[in-house]
Amino acid sequence: MLIDAAHRKDTRIRENVEKVELYLSLGSNQGDREHNIEIALSLLNIELKTPYKAVSSLLETEPWGFESQDKFLNAAVLYELFLPKGYNPEAEGLMILEICKDIERRLGRTGRPQYNERGERIYTSRPIDIDILLFGDNKIDCEELTVPHKLMYQRDFVMTPLREILTESARSKYDNKN
Ligand code: AMP
Repeated sequence: MLIDAAHRKDTRIRENVEKVELYLSLGSNQGDREHNIEIALSLLNIELKTPYKAVSSLLETEPWGFESQDKFLNAAVLYELFLPKGYNPEAEGLMILEICKDIERRLGRTGRPQYNERGERIYTSRPIDIDILLFGDNKIDCEELTVPHKLMYQRDFVMTPLREILTESARSKYDNKN
């Protein structure tokens, strides 16, 4: 249950709320890539009920895990969410994942993730991809969601923008170059 700015002003609510840092990764290699990322950020601001706290610069990268002429633009974004104390990390994480997937669909991404016979992901071009990298200090490992993101440390296109916006405390815990 995300708490918006108007409700955060209510002192009774404020005392029972905690601030949680959410880091997302965004990537686009189809259509107007910069525009796709801008629209995704505006929709995230609305759905997460708060404007983003920090956004990285855009990084152009080669597709990862598949061949294509169409390079990606990648970015990372930080939101400070306000959640009720004692919130359920998995339930909230899945709700955020649903917001991300819904924005992917609204921006024209179609179909479910595809896997080869060895159970590995088949990656394809996409107008927008939004992944959850970090959600406070929560560790989530369920069928639909793994946080911290399983592959983030293997992907420079994720870590380079993320390093631009990591707060000091998050850097000490989650930057593998420390
Ligand atoms: P993708 O194609 O990268 O958008 O992700 C495909 C699937 O990965 C989604 O359907 C999610 O259920 C799953 N997934 C697992 N962990 C994460 C995560 N941390 N962020 C986003 N998707 C995730």
